[in-house]
Amino acid sequence: MKVDTHIHLYDEKYEDIIDEVIKSAIDKGVKRIIVNGIDKNTSIKSIKLANKYDYLYVAIGLHPSEINSNEENDLSWIYDLAKDDKVIAIGEIGLDYYWDKTYNDLQKEIFIKQIKIANELNLPVIVHSRDAHKDTFDIMKKYQTKGILHCYQSSLELAKEYVKLGYFLGIGGVLTFKNSKVIKDVVREISIDYLLTETDGPYLTPSPFRGKLNRPEYISYIINEISNIKNLDKDVIEEKIFNNYKRLFKE
Ligand SMILES: [Zn+2]
Repeated sequence: MKVDTHIHLYDEKYEDIIDEVIKSAIDKGVKRIIVNGIDKNTSIKSIKLANKYDYLYVAIGLHPSEINSNEENDLSWIYDLAKDDKVIAIGEIGLDYYWDKTYNDLQKEIFIKQIKIANELNLPVIVHSRDAHKDTFDIMKKYQTKGILHCYQSSLELAKEYVKLGYFLGIGGVLTFKNSKVIKDVVREISIDYLLTETDGPYLTPSPFRGKLNRPEYISYIINEISNIKNLDKDVIEEKIFNNYKRLFKE
């Protein structure tokens, strides 16, 4: 059974084809799909989707790029939405210094608050980190929790540190890109016991579908690549990753 721990299925690109996308994924063995919200609105949409389809679960949270000074920084809605049985994680949360540095401090504050909420609710976190490798690591180290570094993009050195702390690394379509040397090294060196698979759809479509809409069924291309790099059978990879999923998430 394959797992996709990170996708944004409420995106309008899926709107007209959602039944087919989900059916096709399930037919191809993707038996766990975590829809990740990026704010209150998309978290609600994710819960609605998950209550409509089997095998779908939800992460709720406030994404760093959605944080600005005008934003209502009250996070009490997370407690309310977390009552739904389909909610199994807090995400997508984290730090993103790529676009705008104005709110870096506020991003950190809200990231930490959401980790504390996750710990309180005994839920793992799904973490986004872009151009913020050191700050993300420092926070994940200081505020010990459990969870995934989604679409892992940092160094091998840092990957080893994360694994020491018990965190999982989310491996997505980037692994299939020809010039993605660092992430290939990470997959080679880090134990399969700490890897999870994800699409991050609609973004980061794996090769050979780059430029097209990303779909959960494409998880098989990421598994193929992990299998090639680690020189392990695809079925073994699939089973180990499913076990990792079960270790981290309580449905
Ligand atoms: Zn995402």
